[in-house]
Amino acid sequence: MRLSKTFIKTLREAPKDEIARNGALLTRAGYIHKELAGIYDYLPLGVLVLEKIKNIIREELNAIDCEEVQMSALQNPELWEATGRFSDQEVDIWFKTELASGGLLGLAPTHEEPMVNMMKTYLSSYKDLPVYVYQFQTKFRNEMRAKSGVMRGREFLMKDLYSFHASEADLDDFYSKVETAYAKIFERLGLGDSTYETFASGGIFSKFSHEYQTILPVGEDTIYYNKDKSLVFNKEVFNDEVLSEFGVSKADFEGAKAAEVGNIFKLKFKYTEPLGLKYTDESNNAQMVYMGCYGIGVSRVMGVVAEKFADEKGLVWPEAVAPFKYYLVGIGDEGTKAAEKLYLGRENEILFDDRDARPGEKFADADLLGIPYRIVISDKTLKDSKIEITNRATGEIKLVDIEKGLTD
Ligand code: ATP
Ligand code: MG
Repeated sequence: MRLSKTFIKTLREAPKDEIARNGALLTRAGYIHKELAGIYDYLPLGVLVLEKIKNIIREELNAIDCEEVQMSALQNPELWEATGRFSDQEVDIWFKTELASGGLLGLAPTHEEPMVNMMKTYLSSYKDLPVYVYQFQTKFRNEMRAKSGVMRGREFLMKDLYSFHASEADLDDFYSKVETAYAKIFERLGLGDSTYETFASGGIFSKFSHEYQTILPVGEDTIYYNKDKSLVFNKEVFNDEVLSEFGVSKADFEGAKAAEVGNIFKLKFKYTEPLGLKYTDESNNAQMVYMGCYGIGVSRVMGVVAEKFADEKGLVWPEAVAPFKYYLVGIGDEGTKAAEKLYLGRENEILFDDRDARPGEKFADADLLGIPYRIVISDKTLKDSKIEITNRATGEIKLVDIEKGLTD
């Protein structure tokens, strides 16, 4: 991509009401545009980052035989009334809207109900099970506080996976596969070292659910972990009763702020029972379908990664989620010509700063945008037939033979 050809510009200042660092930096660097508190547009660079995150998740879920769908955002209240979740007393973050012809619709904050309902059309026999279905979908939640940039949106992108099983053992087995897939996903997203599977409340038949919590000073949650971080609890379940069950005590734990990037639940019959999702077993008896659900906050992950790695100069993307691998600057006539040549055929890998601007301005933007490697070609580097490659995260500089180019 050529910077001269895109409409995005870096901004000297973020909107005054943008108090979260991720929101301010992503806005200044031209990844997002703020509409209202908790409501953001994603610009070309922001879309590229979201797509990288989605593709990592997609690859790992497809590898465990999950199938991608896309469900509607507009919701039939009847389905949610069946589980008691259309009531504002029960779920206090609904956005509701009206049909011109009369009657209410909801804007989906999550998709358990429509997913179970959809499955009633396709699941009837034990031969149809198991089923694993996921989507990337915009969710709507009328959040009270939306002050954490893209980490807490009123409209945000979630990956939600649902699984349906004939037995508890099969649900358990798949749940473990998701745990393994999630570990791979967070590792690939650059969050492997700082993200922990955490015991949290809300499990239906295993008592606990699991959250994936990334250590982050501005995170909204508090977690407690033991010395080797093999046992991690959300504050909400960190009490003597729970700890004694695990044979540990409070003194063994340390607290930290964290952001919840994912959440997995064994729902058992919580939604399949009220909505009547059943199958017939080998002996022709009707049985309730077991269900699990597994979320990842895609846009929140983008905010967490931005927040976690940024420094005083701007964003610092891990290579796997960066919109481009290289930020290319040519200086002087020969440098610019050589840069053009290097850019050719690598349009998806290189963000080429071909603007008519001073090198200092380009370097500042390279830092702000957080592209992993900055390449500079100037008359000076060309004298030795070299290009200069600077690692954004470490500041390490390498001079590479121009003939060798970007082979590695
Ligand atoms: P939280 O406790 O942060 O409010 P939650 O427990 O309500 O989140 P889930 O319903 O389990 O969240 O949603 C799955 C994932 O979606 C969460 O783990 C989180 O990463 C993400 N998520 C939830 N709410 C938001 C939001 N308002 N903005 C961005 N991401 C969100
Ligand atoms: Mg939560």
